[in-house]
Amino acid sequence: MSIDLHTHSTYSDGVLTPAALVRRAASRGVSLLALTDHDETGGLAEAAQAASEVNVLLVPGVEISVAWDGHTLHVLGLDIDPRAPELAQGLTSIRHSRGERAVRIAAQLDAVGVTGSLPGAARHAGNCAAIGRSHFARFLVEHKHVRNTSDAFRRYLGAGRSGYVPPCWPELAQAIGWIHRAGGQAVLAHPDRYRLPPRIMQSLFEAFGQNGGDAIEIGSDGRFKASAQIRLARQFGFALSSGSDFHAPGKNVADLGDVAEIPSGVPAVWQRLRAMR
Ligand code: AMP
Ligand code: MN
Ligand code: MN
Ligand code: MN
Repeated sequence: MSIDLHTHSTYSDGVLTPAALVRRAASRGVSLLALTDHDETGGLAEAAQAASEVNVLLVPGVEISVAWDGHTLHVLGLDIDPRAPELAQGLTSIRHSRGERAVRIAAQLDAVGVTGSLPGAARHAGNCAAIGRSHFARFLVEHKHVRNTSDAFRRYLGAGRSGYVPPCWPELAQAIGWIHRAGGQAVLAHPDRYRLPPRIMQSLFEAFGQNGGDAIEIGSDGRFKASAQIRLARQFGFALSSGSDFHAPGKNVADLGDVAEIPSGVPAVWQRLRAMR
């Protein structure tokens, strides 16, 4: 069975509609798929409908932006009920702060001579309710301010750059609570990407465990030091999850179903999903 438990659609910063995403997953042999848009569950109904027409089991998910110890982290909620009131209200308030942040990012870009970025980013946001930095990055590429999106983060949107606005996310503990009370499993997304020194990584795992976190994502990148995180996951008793973090088809990026294999002897988070029990 091929699985992919971390993907994005046009309801956040992915480029495929939920239905097109599900069909692409099916054509690539993925049979268990989670849609995990940033701070948004609006695409789940369309994805579920499309999944029922092909041979795909859809796991309702979300990727929540959270703050921990001054860092921005991402926590996946898998197998959530998107109608759970606390989760729904929490996500609405995150999207509201995203809207305010987008206005401030645009003002800061204006101040360094990059004009028109708010409507420009909004165009890339399509049916997504909240503009994020990826949409600004696509605007910056489109208008040739930068060569590619990583350049956009390096020159304008990353921490400390001229278009950077510190985000205002809920605390880690709070987001895990929303996920649990919506019936879901809380998964720490791509720990390798936070570039934390080993000691801080260790305290993050501790905090994640103390707050009831369920699993750690091992991602799709063959280069990353999976073994260190798998060792930590074992030590703290976490299950493992695996997903591509697919945003768009392209060169040098993971496509749907390109995920790392869970080593034997460690529990996989999908064994705990309601559809699999
Ligand atoms: P936001 O949640 O609005 O702060 O934007 C974060 C999103 O931007 C991530 O989920 C990625 O999709 C994208 N992103 C962050 N850093 C980079 C980078 N260096 N290069 C390309 N995309 C990035
Ligand atoms: Mn993204
Ligand atoms: Mn993420
Ligand atoms: Mn993601």
